[in-house]
Amino acid sequence: MNFVVLTLFKDMVESAMNTSIMGRAIEKGLIDLNVIDIRDYACNKHNRVDDYPYGGGAGMVMQAEPVYKACEAARQFLKKPGKLIYLSPIGRTFTQEVAKELAQEENLIFLCGHYEGIDERVLEMEVDDYISLGDFVLTGGELPAICIMDAVSRLVPGVLNNDDSASDESFEGNTLEYPQYTRPEEFMGKRVPDVLLSGHHANIERWRREQSLLRTIERRPDLMDKVELDKKDRKFLKEHNL
Ligand code: SAM
Repeated sequence: MNFVVLTLFKDMVESAMNTSIMGRAIEKGLIDLNVIDIRDYACNKHNRVDDYPYGGGAGMVMQAEPVYKACEAARQFLKKPGKLIYLSPIGRTFTQEVAKELAQEENLIFLCGHYEGIDERVLEMEVDDYISLGDFVLTGGELPAICIMDAVSRLVPGVLNNDDSASDESFEGNTLEYPQYTRPEEFMGKRVPDVLLSGHHANIERWRREQSLLRTIERRPDLMDKVELDKKDRKFLKEHNL
């Protein structure tokens, strides 16, 4: 998986991505990360890449030319076609489903805006997809790009030590994950549920499924419409008047 990030804050992206699991994935060559500084493509001697918005109003807008040149540099660098994503509050909302969709791509280019955003003309020319991290406004696209690269990388085979971990988590099958415990068996008087110490795999699996259902109903009832329930699930929910 090849990521190229176009940003005004290279260090922010590199330091986050070179840490922990992502850093190891880069070291192992499972993920390739290249970060391009849009300012390197500034077209004036002061290295400015922003200007006042036409029509007036607050803030500054990133100019079309440096962004255009940085996008073209990213495409040339990749040599193969790559999907160019502009991180923006006006994009479709990022979810685990979108992460899975992006994980099918070989090359992804992330364009991070700043200030009031980017001149619309270059967005029309270069952007293949608009993605938002959620219904809130951040100061820049770097954090969304990092979040998306993290979520997508976890789905690349070999990035997680145990490939099963990604298939057993929240949003798989539209449920939230069951509670997790580790040693010791008792902490400040609170014991780990007995079933998890029983060694009975079928019972553990059933308990986890039921906990997932309970949690989803309690915390994200909106997901329940999309959950596929089997006979045992329905019986369990009926017994709990759910
Ligand atoms: N004026 C823009 C608007 O109202 O839609 C917001 C610009 S924001 C201050 C600066 C940059 O941060 C954007 O160009 C975008 O790249 C990024 N950004 C802010 N919020 C975001 C979000 N929720 N998802 C993805 N990117 C976001």
